[in-house]
Amino acid sequence: MATIITPDRRPQMASVRPGIMQAIEADFNKTGEIIQHDISDFVADKRIHRISESKEQSNGISLNDSRIIVSVGRGVKNPETVRQIRQWAQQIGAVVAGSRAAVEAGLIEPQMQIGQTGHVVSPDIYIAIGISGQIQHTSGIGGAKKIIAINSDASAPIFNIADYGWVITAEEAVKRLLTNTI
Ligand SMILES: Cc1cc2nc3c(=O)[nH]c(=O)nc-3n(C[C@H](O)[C@H](O)[C@H](O)COP(=O)(O)OP(=O)(O)OC[C@H]3O[C@@H](n4cnc5c(N)ncnc54)[C@H](O)[C@@H]3O)c2cc1C
Repeated sequence: MATIITPDRRPQMASVRPGIMQAIEADFNKTGEIIQHDISDFVADKRIHRISESKEQSNGISLNDSRIIVSVGRGVKNPETVRQIRQWAQQIGAVVAGSRAAVEAGLIEPQMQIGQTGHVVSPDIYIAIGISGQIQHTSGIGGAKKIIAINSDASAPIFNIADYGWVITAEEAVKRLLTNTI
């Protein structure tokens, strides 16, 4: 996160995090000229040397490409419930992510955190289980087409932005979802 103020100078700069906007269809009819610049002499800081390059390892699931995300919050208190949520998510073709509180509780991997300091996502369906709906979390799901909230507290702020809500404990909800007895 950075504040960049350049009212009187150029170049001006803007940055956008992945997932915050819907990608438009690629237009392969467009043409353009590619100009190769030789930047081999350009070294901003001679003390910095690139030793090697490596890609971040992931479990192969990209949050940005996921159409359905099931997100776990601190209200999902134990690993067994998370395991059941993962089982249900697999059944519906969803990826499991979580709030920062869930990451800090060790329930969800840090790279699957949603929010201001995590990923910004735009899935078709975002299912928040045991997530209160603090702004630092919901700023990461503004692009979601439908938000479903599952929370035991009917006054949780997440219900203010949810399209559908279910007031129930996470434990009871996942039990019913797995047995199709909603
Ligand atoms: C600078 C900064 C950056 C941050 N960045 C992020 C970020 O990127 N992402 C992020 O998520 N947070 C971020 N946070 C933290 C954020 O402010 C909240 O603390 C966090 O989102 C809360 O997570 P939560 O909703 O899972 O937990 P809580 O706020 O504790 O909410 C838990 C919810 O679970 C419900 N609940 C309790 N028991 C049950 C049950 N048995 N079944 C169902 N529901 C239950 C409760 O009613 C409650 O609504 C940031 C904070 C700061 C200061």
